[in-house]
Amino acid sequence: MAERFDVVIIGGGIGGLVAAREAAITGQSVCLLEAGDRLGGALQGLALGGTTVDVGAEGFAITRPETVELITSLGLADRIVQPRRSDSRLVVPAGTFPMPHAMLGIPTNPLADDVVAIIGADAAQRAAARDAAPVPDQWDDEITLGALIRERLGDEIVESIATPVVGGVHALNPDLAEAEALIPGIRAATRKHGGLSAAAAAMRAASGVPGAAVNGLRGGMSVLVDALVADVQARGVVIRTATRAAAVHQDGTAWITSTPSGDLASDQVVVAVDASSAARLLAGLPTVHDPLSRLHVGDVVVFAMVLSHPLLDEDPLGSGALIAPSTPKVRAKALTHASAKWAWIREAYGPGRHVVRLSYGRDGVISEPLDQLPEIAHQDLELLLGTELPGFEATHLARWTGSLLHPRVGHRANVAALRAAVADLPGLAVPAAGLAGNGLAGTISQARASVAQVRN
Ligand SMILES: Cc1cc2nc3c(=O)[nH]c(=O)nc-3n(C[C@H](O)[C@H](O)[C@H](O)COP(=O)(O)OP(=O)(O)OC[C@H]3O[C@@H](n4cnc5c(N)ncnc54)[C@H](O)[C@@H]3O)c2cc1C
Repeated sequence: MAERFDVVIIGGGIGGLVAAREAAITGQSVCLLEAGDRLGGALQGLALGGTTVDVGAEGFAITRPETVELITSLGLADRIVQPRRSDSRLVVPAGTFPMPHAMLGIPTNPLADDVVAIIGADAAQRAAARDAAPVPDQWDDEITLGALIRERLGDEIVESIATPVVGGVHALNPDLAEAEALIPGIRAATRKHGGLSAAAAAMRAASGVPGAAVNGLRGGMSVLVDALVADVQARGVVIRTATRAAAVHQDGTAWITSTPSGDLASDQVVVAVDASSAARLLAGLPTVHDPLSRLHVGDVVVFAMVLSHPLLDEDPLGSGALIAPSTPKVRAKALTHASAKWAWIREAYGPGRHVVRLSYGRDGVISEPLDQLPEIAHQDLELLLGTELPGFEATHLARWTGSLLHPRVGHRANVAALRAAVADLPGLAVPAAGLAGNGLAGTISQARASVAQVRN
């Protein structure tokens, strides 16, 4: 006979842990299943050269309240830190430039000096002239972000600014990304403000955060996972790691979750895993499986390293860099100089020692052979810094499979179909990773809502 709980949560990332906490708070019996041998999912701290640093998510947006609220509710508010610096660079074939004032690669003023420095005065003038043209009444509902920027600001802005920024942040080319999925309301804002740059400026200003829009936690984001795990355990949640759920199906009004060690029965099941894993788990429910299987996900690799070189003491790339795919020889899509960005990391490693993260993977594909990544990363860093470097003191390669949801064309239609199908199945919730955007705030809010939703 199947073991019974009120709620079964599949996935022990931040989404699953938050859902487990919500359910436990309402007094329900909860079992959380995690396939791996650790909890936290894309939040992972790892001892590197003597200090634990993040090899997955390393900060959180403060333009939305959810993450700060969660951190505060766990008694960790005094660990919230602002970045020591948040001035990333843009690396393009023409060179390395300060990041222009922009919203996800859309400059807020195409004539600003920082934009002119990258694309040249002529292209900047052309961009401004294009964006001054009357805004059409309507665009294709599924227009890509790349197409929208090309239409309003021209190809140069797409190639030199939007592509490295969207590629660095979402591992996706803007020509493949549905504009409204990445920036909800961007077409209406462009109409309202009479141009795309003006829309970007207004949307950035409306976020209400003047300085760094991202904060972190002293000790790294894994501190949040540790506190959350302790909290849910204290509330009686049964946590089973190294337990991969194989399938979910309905038996009358009960939900049955199959695992290698037997079936679990529950009134409610929350599937808080990445979209591809969710599609496999829910293969027996075609109305849910079909839209889930049409969602695109991408793999990324983070290569973290500790090294010493006097040039790095001067923060030559600010807090990091986003890299255009057209940049000769460089394979990485983004770089974070973690010991320049976060004071606690700088202090922990001491003078002269640095932590740098390079990330790889574009449009769902990692083209670099993983066994060659130490050499590739070393070469990339030499190219980006323009100097010869010694060997690394310590390294770690973290592969994130299917962890980033890629909102390609058709994304919102698929999400709407998925939500409608799930709403027809009482007791089921699917807060799949990235469904509310690739970020902690969206993940936390949909995890909380998922429990409220199954409760009703
Ligand atoms: C490299 C990287 C960097 C990021 N950086 C940031 C950042 O700085 N700031 C930010 O806000 N966001 C960032 N994000 C996004 C953010 O980390 C994610 O949106 C969020 O962590 C997703 O949480 P989740 O619980 O939904 O999914 P996940 O973290 O993916 O967790 C899902 C869990 O489910 C488990 N699982 C899968 N299948 C099964 C199964 N069949 N049975 C049981 N368990 C299963 C997995 O092992 C995993 O532990 C980053 C993401 C990545 C990949």
